[in-house]
Amino acid sequence: MIQARIQQHTEAIVLRLLDYGESDRIVTFSTADFGKIRGIAKGARRSRKRFANALEPFCHSRMIFSRKNPDGLALIEGCDVLSHFPAIRSDLEKTLAASCLIELTDHFTPEDKRNESSFFLLLEFLRLLEGAAIGDALLRFFEIRLLRISGYDPVLDRCLCCQKPVGNQATYRFDIAKGGLTCNLCGPGNREAIPVSLGTIRTLLLGREMETKRLGSLLLSEQSADECGRLLAHFIRHILGRELKSVQVLNEIRRLKI
Ligand SMILES: [Zn+2]
Repeated sequence: MIQARIQQHTEAIVLRLLDYGESDRIVTFSTADFGKIRGIAKGARRSRKRFANALEPFCHSRMIFSRKNPDGLALIEGCDVLSHFPAIRSDLEKTLAASCLIELTDHFTPEDKRNESSFFLLLEFLRLLEGAAIGDALLRFFEIRLLRISGYDPVLDRCLCCQKPVGNQATYRFDIAKGGLTCNLCGPGNREAIPVSLGTIRTLLLGREMETKRLGSLLLSEQSADECGRLLAHFIRHILGRELKSVQVLNEIRRLKI
């Protein structure tokens, strides 16, 4: 029996591209209505006209696709660019930050499972990055929010062991394997745990809860930036079982600049 291809429309953001065959491209998208999907863009490398500049990393478009079955490879039939994010593309630091956002989204989003919150989180943060010069803080707040919507929300408001609310100690420890804080009474023996100050914990909690458009006003002190960076990088590496490529590139470029 031949199944008809059903044409679908959705907003989409390009997460990853792979050249395929002579002239095609396999593209992974985060979409508003279908979760993460992979599709083939026929002739995308031969004719620039058909997809204009829609098939570039983190480009946001309205995409038309069809597929024979719901979990098969989609045929990408067209893309109308909604935002190409020119300010991000003309700035190396912002481009690297956007690469981190899409790589994180890619790793934390299962394929073909509807997940509009991860699509809109990515879109909101790309817009923030396009609009203002925010650096590491923005990445940290994206990470903490992505962890929450992916079901890996770290416990930051109380001690994992005694359940006492966080607030009466100047420093706590973050237990990577357990995904949460321990107080000084419960967790002094754990050498793997990362020390983290109360100020950093409060900033992370704010960054997780605050309205996204107000995040630009939330700054990280040097100490908080270091602590948040270390805590989230270790925790994410523990969950994914690997280091993100985009993070390695970002760190490498920064080292070269110094
Ligand atoms: Zn405790």
